[in-house]
Amino acid sequence: MPHPARPIRPALTGLSPEALAAWLQHAGHPAFRTRQILDWIWKKNVGAVAAMSNLPAALRAGLTESFRFDSLQHTHTQGAADTTRKFLFRLHDGRYVECVLIPANPALYGDTADRHTLCVSSQVGCAYGCKFCASGLAGFTRNLDASEIAGQVLAAARLSGERIDNLVFMGMGEPLANLDPLLAAIALITGPQTLHLGARHLTISTSGLVPQIRRLAEHPQQLRLAISLHGASDEVRDKIMPVNRKWPLAELLDSLAYWNSLKKQKLTLEYILIAGINDSLAQAALLARHARRLHAKVNLIPYNTVDGLAWQRPPETHCTAFLQTLQRAGVPATLRFEKGHDIAAACGQLRLKQETADGLI
Ligand code: SAH
Ligand code: SF4
Repeated sequence: MPHPARPIRPALTGLSPEALAAWLQHAGHPAFRTRQILDWIWKKNVGAVAAMSNLPAALRAGLTESFRFDSLQHTHTQGAADTTRKFLFRLHDGRYVECVLIPANPALYGDTADRHTLCVSSQVGCAYGCKFCASGLAGFTRNLDASEIAGQVLAAARLSGERIDNLVFMGMGEPLANLDPLLAAIALITGPQTLHLGARHLTISTSGLVPQIRRLAEHPQQLRLAISLHGASDEVRDKIMPVNRKWPLAELLDSLAYWNSLKKQKLTLEYILIAGINDSLAQAALLARHARRLHAKVNLIPYNTVDGLAWQRPPETHCTAFLQTLQRAGVPATLRFEKGHDIAAACGQLRLKQETADGLI
């Protein structure tokens, strides 16, 4: 029986190769075990120490005694194979986190390759309180650690049986408000001994945390950045995104120019279309100006309704007019209506329902 006051064991899926090697050395095991264990966790994705069949029983027992395997207990899947699927996980403290697997979309990737994108969460809840967003509704609970972030990728691959090629940090939370654990997770996701995804297949989305954008710009990996702009003037952004009061548009745009000076990949500006709030064609013209200056592409996303919020998406004809304003100004822009986004963009809602049912909220 574990002692009730015993601290939670660290997760194997959060250990860097160096930390695992140090633990093995300290416990008197040969160095080659590091590679074997990393292969079981990251390449074979077995999900349990018991399945690591080439390890001596004493080492398996030692690992089990000192570590938990990961941090995510799968409790629910929404959606079916071949469609967008959302996975809900219970964390060790009873909180919930979700991630969304979005199947190949030739319209987005320009080919028919069998690509799957996983939308990953970085926090439980979010402190930034954007007025339109389910994740911000119940406020902030806590940051995820590296194992809880990287573990979503392993768990979703195991549960779906799919290869995951792209990651977008667009689930619950503000990834740049949890930057050190995020970077530790990214090191595991991109590391050659661990998951080994290319950094340019990872997109971090932020509502506009200027100092962290500058810090990430200086990070050596070629990560992609998406900005949740949602308003092309301070007047509009102030109304729907409290973060804009702290870092107004001019400062945000400056930090993005700095990003461009250090990075190769094009920036993406995300723009939700909300009827009567940010969808005037005057906003489209301003947005086109910002995008042209930054050589950015624009993703237009018709707003998905959220339980308890009154916002609506504009009619399809108006969304198209907004898109055309951008395109006529020479800005590469897309408008997505596909169904996947109905669950993908509602990231945060499943967790809210579950935590409410469990009496946590
Ligand atoms: N906090 C980060 C990342 C998570 S949100 C950020 O804000 O960028 C992922 C994206 O979903 C953001 O662009 C967010 O603005 C958008 N989003 C939130 N609620 C939405 C809704 N109801 N409909 C469509 N997109 C939504
Ligand atoms: Fe947080 Fe992003 Fe939602 Fe804003 S849009 S509340 S920053 S998760």
